[in-house]
Amino acid sequence: MNASLQDYRAKRDFSRTDEPAGRPAPSRPLGKMRFVVHKHKANHSHYDLRLEMAGVLKSWAIPKGIPMDKGEAQLALELEDHPLEYRGFEGIIPLGNYAAGTVQLWDRGTYKVSGFAAGESWQQGKISLLLQGKKLRGHWRLVRTEGEGIKNSWLLIKTAENLLRLSSAELDRSVLSGKTIAELAGSPGHPPPPPRSGLKAKLKALMTRP
Ligand code: MN
Repeated sequence: MNASLQDYRAKRDFSRTDEPAGRPAPSRPLGKMRFVVHKHKANHSHYDLRLEMAGVLKSWAIPKGIPMDKGEAQLALELEDHPLEYRGFEGIIPLGNYAAGTVQLWDRGTYKVSGFAAGESWQQGKISLLLQGKKLRGHWRLVRTEGEGIKNSWLLIKTAENLLRLSSAELDRSVLSGKTIAELAGSPGHPPPPPRSGLKAKLKALMTRP
């Protein structure tokens, strides 16, 4: 098991959410690295940028969304590493679970890092990204700003124009299902499991049945 997924697993009860627990990452030959962006309607709506790196998804929450205009910068808070299988996750995290809310697979594709290798760039706190997704195309830079207040804080900076112009309808839809956040929130999906006390009571009733 990948030690860097400890935080991720500690926060979740996988009997109560459809999110993946994460298997040991197979070692992949060097090649194109993948990224995804989730749109996450939770307590506070935000986007999550996840970059495949060293067998996990390095993850940042971006409260105000991905900067799309050259020169624009947005706060990006680094979160716990997520398992690679999270790349395919879309759906509802039931109420009462960590990060409960609706998760949309907003964009996915491959990325390249210029300068140093991805892991080394991350360590140095400067990642020059070329994103090649369905929506995000072009150059961004992630810069760690830790020490200026908030822990784990970075800036995501748009360093050149996006190569695609997308309509707001396209921007609203999942690259996996084509659904909007509202459509995903309204779809049946995984029903919230019964509360544990209820389950215990039911089991007890079954076991004490004559
Ligand atoms: Mn999130």
